Amino acid sequence: MQILLVEDDLSLADGLQQALKQEGITVNHVARGQEALHVVKSFPPDIMILDLGLPDMDGIEVVSNLRKEKITLPILILTARNSVEDKVSGLDVGADDYLAKPFEMPELLARIRVLERRISTTKASNNIEVGVVSLDPKAMQVMVNNQDITLSKSEYMLLKALLQNAGRILTRDNLESQLYSWGEEVSSNTLEVHIHHLRKKVGSDFIKTVRGVGYTVNKT
Ligand code: CA
Repeated sequence: MQILLVEDDLSLADGLQQALKQEGITVNHVARGQEALHVVKSFPPDIMILDLGLPDMDGIEVVSNLRKEKITLPILILTARNSVEDKVSGLDVGADDYLAKPFEMPELLARIRVLERRISTTKASNNIEVGVVSLDPKAMQVMVNNQDITLSKSEYMLLKALLQNAGRILTRDNLESQLYSWGEEVSSNTLEVHIHHLRKKVGSDFIKTVRGVGYTVNKT
C-alpha cells in the first residue's frame, strides 16, 4: 500500500514515515498543499494522510480541491486543531476520517486499516489495462498478452505510473523523484536502465521516449 503523507512538521513526518515503513507501507512525503495536489494527480496513492496547517494552503482546501475534481482517494486528516467546527468542516468537504494530534501510533494504524478495507471492497476489480499490458495493483502482478511477467519493484512502480497516466507524458524528474521516494539511489542513468529492462519485458514499442522530456505510453 502506498500512502501520501502531507505534513510540514518534518520531525513528525519523519517519525510517521519510519513507523509506517515498519508496517510494510510505502510512504511518499510532501510538506506543501500544492505539491500534494500535484502528486495525487500524477501518482495516485492509495490513501492520503493530511495535516491541516500547511505553509502554502489550508488542508481543507486540499480536500475540497480534490473532491471537486472527483478524486475519491481516502483522506485521513491529522491535525492539532481539535475544535468541533474544524472536524466538521474537514468531513464536510469530503475527508474520510479525522485524528487529533497528539495521537498514538496504534490508533493511526487502526484508522489506516479501516480505510484500506474500504478501498479493497470498493475496488474489487481495479486492473489497469492499456493495450496488451494488464496490471493488477492488488496482486502487484503484470500480464502481457495474458502471460505473467516478473518485474523488479522499481520496474513495477514505473510501469504502474506510466499506465495510470496513459496518454500523458511523465517527465524524467517526475519518474526519478518517484524512484527516489521508494528508497532507490537514483544516479544519472538509473531511469534509462529501468526503462530498458521494462521494454524488454513489455515490448520495445510500448513505452515511448519523448525526447528531452520523459516517457509516455499510448492510451488504447
Ligand atoms: Ca502543520
